[in-house]
Amino acid sequence: MHCPFCNADDTRVIDSRLVADGGQVRRRRECAYCGERFTTYELAELVMPRVIKSDGSRQPFDEDKLRAGLQRALEKRPVSTEQMEISLSQIKHFLQVTGEREISSRVIGEEVMKKLQNLDEVAYIRFASVYRSFQDLSEFQDELNRLSNSKPETEV
Ligand SMILES: [Zn+2]
Repeated sequence: MHCPFCNADDTRVIDSRLVADGGQVRRRRECAYCGERFTTYELAELVMPRVIKSDGSRQPFDEDKLRAGLQRALEKRPVSTEQMEISLSQIKHFLQVTGEREISSRVIGEEVMKKLQNLDEVAYIRFASVYRSFQDLSEFQDELNRLSNSKPETEV
């Protein structure tokens, strides 16, 4: 790392310790050229990627919007708020660990559908019918059939 005082190329770490409950690394550095000391902090960058919509526009990830979508799909279904919140944080975690700065809304939609499929199949169908643009009714029907074949106890 360059020296912020004299801009020399070479600085060395003279002390390194965990701070903020282990969430950060604090380093004291010393410039080999001018002898000045300075501190750096290192922390993991866990930012939510921006969302690329189908029209190509970008917008910030909106947690409230995603929650509202889940709630709408799960309305009057036997799934607790707790279960829904767990799924929501799993989806957020998935988005964070991709390390991508931008992610397609389609990828998010697919991830939501995976979660809903495990939570409640009626909710999954509701969400899928809105989110995934089925080409026509027969395609939607195929999806229904596929589900009822794979899980005979389904209520759909
Ligand atoms: Zn220096």
